[in-house]
Amino acid sequence: APAPAPDDARDQENEDGPSGPFHLRILQWNVLSQTLGKSNDNFVCCPDEALEWSARRYQIIQEIVQYSPDVICLQEVDHFNFLQAILGSLGYSGTFFPKPDSPCLYIQGNNGPDGCAIFFNDSKFELLKTESRILEVWRVQSNQVALLCILKVQETGQEVCIATTHLKARSGALLSTLRNEQGKDLLEFVNGHAEGRPVILSGDFNAEPIEPVYMTLLSNQKLHLASAYTALVKDNTSEINQENINVHNSIKCEPPYTTWKIREEGEICHTIDYIFYSRKAFSVESLLEFPTGEEIGKNRVPSMCYPSDHFSLCCDFKFMDNSRTRS
Ligand code: NDP
Ligand code: CA
Repeated sequence: APAPAPDDARDQENEDGPSGPFHLRILQWNVLSQTLGKSNDNFVCCPDEALEWSARRYQIIQEIVQYSPDVICLQEVDHFNFLQAILGSLGYSGTFFPKPDSPCLYIQGNNGPDGCAIFFNDSKFELLKTESRILEVWRVQSNQVALLCILKVQETGQEVCIATTHLKARSGALLSTLRNEQGKDLLEFVNGHAEGRPVILSGDFNAEPIEPVYMTLLSNQKLHLASAYTALVKDNTSEINQENINVHNSIKCEPPYTTWKIREEGEICHTIDYIFYSRKAFSVESLLEFPTGEEIGKNRVPSMCYPSDHFSLCCDFKFMDNSRTRS
């Protein structure tokens, strides 16, 4: 008869909670730049008080810390020092990479450029490396950036690559092509530094799931990424199959929105923020749901209750067995 299993890592893993060493909770959020939100976005139906930094800053912190994420990926950060001071006192370390020609800099009274930031829980991880990149389009630098950290889970020695980005905004065929090119450059950047480690790639991609960049990211043959929030929505694969359309069974639905705002041209409600992950290395354990339309209110966001026009995404991942060793 087989001998009883020794007290090994497996036993520990079974007792491991969502914040334990075999799990990873990540929060992804475009926080809305203070300068852009106040002076550039032209949100209509949003009360001026909702865009005052004196109130927003604590709401932003509250939104982040209430989930106790292990890793925090943020875009449109133009108050990094403030976030670093508060999150630092709560046990996080952070790194920031600004956009080279941030639109914030052209606005009077700005607080510096906006950019991407990554924070991680100091007691859980050791930082092995930080890398940043100005994304290129046809080998020419664009105004969009990516930031990456290689972290080691101290208790297990497991290494993971965390990357975040904020791709070019606005709609149109040319911009969709541009985002796709930024996506290709982003994949090269991430793959080059991940060196086989499990990857989490989150951000504001400014692209709905039908845009080319979404498939470019998911179909990459080196990183084997999947999108975490597709697990929130019942997939429509069987429905499509009934119509005899041959689809790969990885085609799944994204949630209906990650941002919901009202501009002069009307209401904008769509999905452009994602958490991609190495599908061979992680399982998705749980996802933070978005507030409903009713909870958000008819004036949408930002509002006195929601400090950004984007919602935060939060996902609990579990490291799978084969993520222990680098592939
Ligand atoms: P992007 O097109 O990527 O957008 C910049 C920001 O605008 C994003 O944070 C985006 O938010 C937000 N945004 C998206 N849609 C709208 C909208 N309809 N109305 C208002 N804001 C919106 O810009 P780039 O980073 O490529 O920068 C623009 C360039 O413009 C810079 O290179 C800069 O040189 C130039 N510029 C020059 C100015 C000047 O006075 N000379 C002034 C401003 C910019 P989200 O991602 O959440 O959609
Ligand atoms: Ca924005």
